[in-house]
Amino acid sequence: MTRPHLLMLLLLAGAIEPLLASNQTLDVNEIPQRYDEAQLWRIYNISEAMQRRVPVGQMLEQKFGGNIWKENSKFLDISIARDQLKAARSFLSAHRLDAQILSDNIQTMIDEELLEGIQATASQQGKRAKKATRSSMHWKDYHDLDTIYSFMREIRSKFPNIVRLYTIGQTAEGRDLKVLRISENPRENKKVWIDGGIHAREWISPATVTFILYQLMSNWENQPAHIRGLTWYIMPVMNPDGYEYSRTTNRLWRKNRSPSRQNQCFGVDLNRNFDIGWNGYGSSTNPCRDTYRGSSPASELETKAVAEFLAKRKYNLESYLTYHSYGQMIVYPWAYKAVKVKDSSILQRVGSLAAERIAQKTGTTYRAAVTHEVLGIAGGGSDDWSRAALGVKYVYTIELRDRGAYGFVLPPRYIKDTALEGWTVAETVAQAIGPSSSG
Ligand SMILES: [Zn+2]
Repeated sequence: MTRPHLLMLLLLAGAIEPLLASNQTLDVNEIPQRYDEAQLWRIYNISEAMQRRVPVGQMLEQKFGGNIWKENSKFLDISIARDQLKAARSFLSAHRLDAQILSDNIQTMIDEELLEGIQATASQQGKRAKKATRSSMHWKDYHDLDTIYSFMREIRSKFPNIVRLYTIGQTAEGRDLKVLRISENPRENKKVWIDGGIHAREWISPATVTFILYQLMSNWENQPAHIRGLTWYIMPVMNPDGYEYSRTTNRLWRKNRSPSRQNQCFGVDLNRNFDIGWNGYGSSTNPCRDTYRGSSPASELETKAVAEFLAKRKYNLESYLTYHSYGQMIVYPWAYKAVKVKDSSILQRVGSLAAERIAQKTGTTYRAAVTHEVLGIAGGGSDDWSRAALGVKYVYTIELRDRGAYGFVLPPRYIKDTALEGWTVAETVAQAIGPSSSG
């Protein structure tokens, strides 16, 4: 299908708003970002010595407008715009590096993701008319914030006795930050916190967290004691401004959308903004970079709201689960320093058990490991903070699918199985915590 046809189809489907409504002025930040013929590269064999001399990712970002997708001890995934491909390739060969092309046209991936979702939603609507259910929620496509929040409200109204819906704060652009609590005994139950969508472009994360909510509530009465006996806090979208921006304007946006006081750039990496190892490695002091840590620890409204909400509820808080993508990993502290937590053998065992169960259920390989060993050192993460500041035991960051074939732009047909993998981790951790002594 040629691009004009695809565009027409999307317009007909009402998927794209006309660029300029008649009563609006043009804001450069609202022009949709395109990635026509931009490529996604994987670069292996960057030695540590070389990283110290020429930080490859940083150079590709600064000199060739690259956008880092993933950086770890084994490889660097980075997207390069069409008009920089040649120069970036020369830069690599001058440093005896080679790039494997994971995608030769990122815009095509984005267009196909959108189209597949629209088609899946259309067929879903046919089914729903028959079933006459109210919610427009399903897991064949990614959803906007309104749909996710409606789904949360619907859960609350269906289970008024055990579900409470909190608005724990607002974002820089004035959107609500929402958390659901599910509990039969909030005073005595042990607690689990689950969040998604810290990073805007990782759409599979809110999709997975809403699926976990659905798994819990669609069969609550028949859930085993180790699930029903817990208090569940669920925040599907920790970064609503970034999420909406990634849906309307820049599919690959990562940070929130707070304006910088230093320059024209927007956004703080919320997962570098928590008050743990904030001044350390793995984050940037430059507001224009994707890993900008913010002007101070918890400078961001989202970070502050979550930290304050959890600090008040740290009693009995047994688990902090945060869903990200991509890489298929289940990792635990520490991330901000190259040290293991003292009970790391327990965290490794439960993480490995979750990975085994995932392999049985969907055949997908996940790896359980300590964060700094597989993802490198990074300060300011919510996971480390929950352990250091609140003493939470079962702290995991789950890097969902895939391993780089689509990266953040995971086609909607993979949502269901990936979400099931995310649920399997939550289920396994709940079992490890065990039933509350209060019953
Ligand atoms: Zn992430």
